[in-house]
Amino acid sequence: MPKKCIIIGDPVEHSLSPAMHNAGYKFLGLEDRFVFTKRRVTKNNLQDAIKELKDDEFYGITVTTPHKVEIIKYLDKIDPIAKKIGAVNTILNKNGELTGYNTDWLGTTNPIKELTSLKNKKVALIGAGGASRAIAFGLLKEGSSLKIFNRTIQKAEQLSNKLASVYNQDRLIEFSDLSNLEEVESFDIVINSTSLGMLPNTDQTPLPKKYLNSEQIVFEAIYNPHETKFVKEAREVGCRVIFGYEMLLHQGLAQFEIYTNRNAPKEVMKEALLNNLYK
Ligand code: NAP
Repeated sequence: MPKKCIIIGDPVEHSLSPAMHNAGYKFLGLEDRFVFTKRRVTKNNLQDAIKELKDDEFYGITVTTPHKVEIIKYLDKIDPIAKKIGAVNTILNKNGELTGYNTDWLGTTNPIKELTSLKNKKVALIGAGGASRAIAFGLLKEGSSLKIFNRTIQKAEQLSNKLASVYNQDRLIEFSDLSNLEEVESFDIVINSTSLGMLPNTDQTPLPKKYLNSEQIVFEAIYNPHETKFVKEAREVGCRVIFGYEMLLHQGLAQFEIYTNRNAPKEVMKEALLNNLYK
């Protein structure tokens, strides 16, 4: 019997995780040992769904919106970094004992680390919503300093306070609204974690092009469209660019390794992801 893995969330029908993970299993000859499916689980049904998945001996449980925080109360153990972030996207079920992990932060730090070290880098994070949280934790964990720019300054402040409480204020964490984005010019890495530029609003961008320069690395969280206006302008300026799909891919690669204990086949999983995202 293969070990069963599954993604739960609402909505989940367009999830790319099954295609990505199953392609990885196949490439490594693990398709008889692992299988990855998906199931819609609503907010009201989370507790029952977790019990069912345990009873049915699901081994790996990938958790997506809206359950990443709520799921924590149904776990037996939590990995220290997932605990710091306060969100779980990956669960291992070992003989009925559920341990929660978070790989979302690796979706940001790993692709950046392919280009440069994050130690002592100045990062401008534009956005302070759900995705920003794991991104920000990852950057601080890797030794960057951070300034969060967000339309609603209270949300930037809340995130900043939460980060400061976890990192004991030993890293520089600042916040601002969007009124002084010109400051971004002096940052090493610029991240968009707002929804500005996401389909169908592809003419939007979080930052005027004039505040970008060719020394910067630009990271986009949005994966639809493939190339946002922000990414297009950053490439025109000469920045090194990380696309939104890379964040999805890298959190998935890290998760694959937790489920299988094998190195994830990056190129195969990337191809499966891209074929399903942009076909
Ligand atoms: P969210 O919690 O709804 O946060 C949305 C963010 O965008 C907030 O900071 C919000 O600012 C800002 N925003 C929205 N409309 C704006 C506007 N008109 N002007 C200025 N700021 C605006 O969403 P999320 O879950 O963090 O997702 C954010 C983006 O990341 C989405 O495009 C999502 O698809 C993408 N994402 C990608 C991945 C990946 O793996 N690549 C993973 C997760 C999310 P306020 O606080 O002021 O509302």
